[in-house]
Amino acid sequence: MAIQLVTTAARLRSESARLLAQKSGSSQGLVPTMGALHEGHAQLARTAVAQNDVVVVSIFVNPLQFGEAADLERYPRSLEADLSLLDAEGVDLVFAPSVEEVYPGGAPKVRIAAGPMAEKWEGAVRPGHFDGALTVVAKLLHFGMPGAAAGTRLPAYRAYFGQKDAQQLALVKRMVADLNFPVEIVAVPIVRSADGLALSSRNRFLSAEEREAALVLSRALRLIEERANAHEPLDLESAQALVASQPLVDLDYFDVVDPGTLDPLAENCRDTPFRGEGLALLAATVGPVRLIDNIPLNS
Ligand code: AMP
Repeated sequence: MAIQLVTTAARLRSESARLLAQKSGSSQGLVPTMGALHEGHAQLARTAVAQNDVVVVSIFVNPLQFGEAADLERYPRSLEADLSLLDAEGVDLVFAPSVEEVYPGGAPKVRIAAGPMAEKWEGAVRPGHFDGALTVVAKLLHFGMPGAAAGTRLPAYRAYFGQKDAQQLALVKRMVADLNFPVEIVAVPIVRSADGLALSSRNRFLSAEEREAALVLSRALRLIEERANAHEPLDLESAQALVASQPLVDLDYFDVVDPGTLDPLAENCRDTPFRGEGLALLAATVGPVRLIDNIPLNS
């Protein structure tokens, strides 16, 4: 394996500097993950490798963003398989720190306040989740920041996030803009399995029957997308009814929102043809798993 595993921030800094110098590189990419990697993560890594001279993937299951200890405990971990997958994509460094390395003094006293955009959708059912997620993203963006060797220009710095976690992506973009982080955020489209289900590390907890039932989610989103593309009224209610007709799926929310602010575009969803940019966003519980999915609309 050419890929290197580092577990401390100091080693990450020294190894990325060494690699940048060795490759005469002018760019570094960071892909933050929680491990248990699948083809969705591979696509993020692939995009980063195509665009940067040095690529770091972080693997860290962040206790700060989990509400229940049980959910944190059962989060899948598979470091060996993750390393092989990332090695095959040409990733240079994997940063897999311990909780103590990331939070040496225990839970941080000062955190990122994700604000009003974090109170709705996922934030409504997971209080504090986005404060915790943005706090660790801020830390990871700092850990992964490339330095400039003496007499050279500061390398370009990009970080890669999946469209799958649309609210997280919107919040990370806002944080980086509002707080002037020197990094470009690159969004990567959702990777789905052939039957349409958005890939997620949590899908492994679905039974065969639940997985089949969950397909109604991407089907309902596609319906909305087709109507937007055909310049028809979205008729969100009929798509919501389609999901509701599946007894194993307990729908939490399904709405069409502004992709930047995540505010509902209700008036754009009923009787008039959809115009402009939107994001159809949903979450549902299927068996033991909370699933989220979305589809960008551009009409
Ligand atoms: P996670 O390990 O679940 O925290 O995800 C790490 C990154 O991978 C996040 O930016 C996710 O949005 C992204 N990601 C997860 N699943 C997918 C997917 N199916 N397609 C694209 N990106 C994904």
